[in-house]
Amino acid sequence: MQFTEEHQALRKTVRDFVEKEINPNCDEWERDGRYPIHEVFKKLGDLGLLGIQKPEEFGGMGLDYSYNLVAAEEFGIAAAGGVPLSIGVQTDMCTPALARFGSNEQKEEFLRPAITGEKVGCIGVSEVGAGSDVAGLKTNAKSDGDDYIINGHKMWITNAPSADFICLLANTSDDKPHKNKSLIIVPMDTPGISVAPHLDKLGMRSSETAQVFFDDVRVPKRNRIGAEGTGFMMQMLQFQEERLWGAANVIKALEGCVTRTIEYCRERETFGQPLINNQAIHFRMAELQTEIEALRALTYQACELHVAQKDVTQLASMAKLKAGRLGREVTDACLQYWGGNGYMWDNPVSRAYRDVRLVSVGGGADEIMLGIICKLMGTLPGKDKGGA
Ligand SMILES: Cc1cc2nc3c(=O)[nH]c(=O)nc-3n(C[C@H](O)[C@H](O)[C@H](O)COP(=O)(O)OP(=O)(O)OC[C@H]3O[C@@H](n4cnc5c(N)ncnc54)[C@H](O)[C@@H]3O)c2cc1C
Repeated sequence: MQFTEEHQALRKTVRDFVEKEINPNCDEWERDGRYPIHEVFKKLGDLGLLGIQKPEEFGGMGLDYSYNLVAAEEFGIAAAGGVPLSIGVQTDMCTPALARFGSNEQKEEFLRPAITGEKVGCIGVSEVGAGSDVAGLKTNAKSDGDDYIINGHKMWITNAPSADFICLLANTSDDKPHKNKSLIIVPMDTPGISVAPHLDKLGMRSSETAQVFFDDVRVPKRNRIGAEGTGFMMQMLQFQEERLWGAANVIKALEGCVTRTIEYCRERETFGQPLINNQAIHFRMAELQTEIEALRALTYQACELHVAQKDVTQLASMAKLKAGRLGREVTDACLQYWGGNGYMWDNPVSRAYRDVRLVSVGGGADEIMLGIICKLMGTLPGKDKGGA
């Protein structure tokens, strides 16, 4: 990746924002289990940071995905992963399909205010009985004249308690599971929608995650993105940006763990010398930093492919898989060298340990990434070949 002065300027804008507007508040937001998302998003919107890659005609910066990636990476310096997660939901999880396939009317109503930060969005795919198996979801949108009537529920929806709209994946016909789904933008104040109190999570505590229920929710068909039945395909495309964003966002969070651990091990003495002087520890830090650079290289390579408008499915899945696996390894290894202090709730490495654990589960678990990679490598046994 060749970064221009514009990339560096954007990186600095994000860094300054995180240091000034996010990090001083993280301890309080983590304790509260929420943060003033509308207020923060409005400030992000004023700086253009919610529409980096979105079309200029709807208020975005119109830049290519590499700029988005730089921002995702820099948001990783946040002192709590929940805040960048909820920003990523807005920029790379609930709006890519709207920006790519939505009508001008939909973009005017939902994308423009999502870019300015006036509206908060969320993405509704997972259900209690359908997380990894997206095709098996049960929420349905039945045709009724010019409207759909939606019934069902969505589980683990980030931003839901504060959201103004949900980008919802629902069944709109009885066709085969990959052909019966549509993405529909539903305003969250539509009668029949209820949001349960936010869930008590292991990590990402400053972001709100909740269950959303739909009880005879009437929404006009003009809110459907693209043609009926193409929602599964659009969501699979939308997942690529979610996964690239997830991989990029982890890089600096992990580097922060390594840097802080080195600093701590320089100060902490055992047996008359700083911990860092133990070869086992300084070698381990070097090894982890090397792995982080490898993740960065893989993520940048995937980004280049995406910018060139090539199919990024395999590399994005690999980057997401590597980010999840490495996130667990780095945070676990670093926590160890903090000893008892690392086991304390408010320790930055312990917070990262809890936050980063999500990467191997959310947005497609590690095993789902492996399945995709195997399919593209041609090693996944087909049903007709006696495979599982
Ligand atoms: C904090 C948080 C925020 C989230 N935010 C959102 C959101 O905003 N919107 C949204 O739609 N969803 C969201 N999710 C849901 C998330 O995407 C799902 O939890 C994830 O896709 C896994 O689905 P599941 O929990 O149903 O796990 P399951 O599908 O029940 O799988 C459980 C585990 O089994 C393993 N597994 C599954 N299938 C296979 C297989 N074929 N082979 C081998 N192993 C397998 C994996 O290890 C997996 O972790 C969020 C989840 C969390 C925890």
